Amino acid sequence: MKRIVLAGAIAVAVSFGTPSFAQGPHHFQPGFNLFSKQQDVQLGEESASQVRKQMTVISDPVLTAYVNRVGKRLVASQEATESGFPFSFEVVADPSINAFALPGGHMFINTGLLRAVDSEAQLAGVMGHEMSHVILRHGTNQASKANLIQLPVALAAQMSGKNSMMGQLAQIGIGLGANSVLLKFSRNAESQADLMGSHLMSEAGYDPMEMAHFFNKLGSPGKGMAGNVAQFMSDHPNPDNRERAIEQEARVLPQQKYGYESGEFKRMKEVVARIHEPAPKPPQPPAPQSSQQ
Ligand code: ZN
Repeated sequence: MKRIVLAGAIAVAVSFGTPSFAQGPHHFQPGFNLFSKQQDVQLGEESASQVRKQMTVISDPVLTAYVNRVGKRLVASQEATESGFPFSFEVVADPSINAFALPGGHMFINTGLLRAVDSEAQLAGVMGHEMSHVILRHGTNQASKANLIQLPVALAAQMSGKNSMMGQLAQIGIGLGANSVLLKFSRNAESQADLMGSHLMSEAGYDPMEMAHFFNKLGSPGKGMAGNVAQFMSDHPNPDNRERAIEQEARVLPQQKYGYESGEFKRMKEVVARIHEPAPKPPQPPAPQSSQQ
């Protein structure tokens, strides 16, 4: 995936604590955060504008309607509704099997992911997983933990001045880019996103085990996707026993009728098969430096 250049964002290993054994489904709350929820939304808005400049957003009506239909079902879940975040869903032309969601709820889904899923439920699994990172505010939580000293100053300066959020954060090395602290998560965060994602799926009528099956497929060699899964696995490191954990969670969720299908999956596949991803856009030239010393 083409990423916006960022210098110096260092992902830190963050401990959220191991979820304790529970009879019922796990309940997760967002962790420590120096950003307000409104600042998550603002950061996401600014970041999304930048993503749209760097990546090719697909405006095909079938694909757009499709991901929004699946997304809306997930947004109707209890956790997503209670979060209050304004989720949105866009398709970008990129052959790698990936999707990412920015703080505040803007999600970008690669054409490569649409090609790779075997069912609507598998797509819903990845989308539910991404939405859970947003609901649990993992990106700004990690940024907060990594920048305890500088971040309060940067956020205060942003609120009192005219600087953009991204501009202000860039000064302390936070942005979107390879290994961005906002988009590359710890294994603990991944576990949480898996389990909460299974709740979202279940409420939407999708079998949570399809998320486990899809992750299993990504992790299996010999499926002909090796080159295209690297970014996903890099951004979403595989927690131990991922499938078993999802299966155990699915077992204790309230019984739901699974098997919802919008009926548009086949049509989506036909459309996405005809899309040719453009060559990656060349890197942006660096901003001109002042000649004055
Ligand atoms: Zn993840």
